[in-house]
Amino acid sequence: MNLCEILHKEELTKGEIIFLLNLSDKSDQQKLFDRADEVRSIYCGEEVHLRGIIEFSNYCEQDCIYCGLRKSNYILSRYRMTPEEIIETAHVISNLGIYTIVLQSGEDNYYDTDLIAYIIYQIKQNTNAAITLSLGERGFDEYRTWKIAGADRYLLKHETASHKLYSVYHKKQKLEDRLSHLRFLKIIGYQIGSGNMIGLPMQTFEDIADDILLCKELDLDMAAFGPFIPSPNTPYQNKSAGDVNLTLRSMAVARIILKNVHIPATTALATLDDEGRIKGLNAGANIVMPDLTPSPYREQYQIYPGKKCINDNPLSCKGCLQLQIESIGRKISNSRGDSLKLTEQVKD
Ligand code: SAH
Repeated sequence: MNLCEILHKEELTKGEIIFLLNLSDKSDQQKLFDRADEVRSIYCGEEVHLRGIIEFSNYCEQDCIYCGLRKSNYILSRYRMTPEEIIETAHVISNLGIYTIVLQSGEDNYYDTDLIAYIIYQIKQNTNAAITLSLGERGFDEYRTWKIAGADRYLLKHETASHKLYSVYHKKQKLEDRLSHLRFLKIIGYQIGSGNMIGLPMQTFEDIADDILLCKELDLDMAAFGPFIPSPNTPYQNKSAGDVNLTLRSMAVARIILKNVHIPATTALATLDDEGRIKGLNAGANIVMPDLTPSPYREQYQIYPGKKCINDNPLSCKGCLQLQIESIGRKISNSRGDSLKLTEQVKD
């Protein structure tokens, strides 16, 4: 079977996925990106949805081997935003016309069930924005309470679909738990996002194929594939970063397979390559997630170093994204950009 035929198949085998991830010829890679762009256009249209991220705490009780926020990183100075600061920042973001607020943090139980519920409720009272939580693994009762308080979506990356690698990267956590949390979140009505990192030490192309197939099995609303970036003061500080082109190929294959799912051009991709966002948007992505954490906190949320646009203010950030997005003939959406699967159900 030739490349064109594979790119137009309804279902791909794992062998075919690995074949596509391996493409090394530039013109073959371009064919893959072009097909992903076509599938993106059919299922998502030309609108790009922005998700404004507020990284409200860099305290973390976990010790993920690759992450700069890990508990054992004693060198990182830690911060917590007050509920009022978080609510105010959400207000600023929605006033900019960005209608998804992502509340992200390390796993920090200082923000207990009620405090997170209060923050969600206040943001929903003050804005028309959807709320995505990205707080790591929390209690099932907490997920339920936050849903009732108004949360719409939950982002919990599975990081790797390989049990073996998962247990190397996470000494205390189990992949099975992560997946049962995702499944529970979906059952109780959250739109769910997950995904992996590309280029983690020891990862193979077969592992990446499994990641994409797992995203399909989980029936995700959003799937994120970001490159690994070595972070100082972690055991992986001297490892090499994930490959930008392999990340783009993974996103493109994911788009072709997952079809009606949101796929972001990640900040990590933009950090490794100045053109990363544009390249991602041309290889299947339809989402950009600007970091709108206020200073001085933003500089301290060091999951990895050199994060893109670290000094921008929200207004200039949106203006810059708008220019980039319009330069490739796309436009910023004015809607919340809910799950493409949800819209389908409503239409039925
Ligand atoms: N604590 C939350 C969310 C914060 S971390 C959670 O556990 O879900 C958000 C994401 O950053 C992680 O899911 C991971 O995929 C990514 N990340 C962490 N360290 C990274 C690194 N060194 N390079 C690239 N991405 C990284």
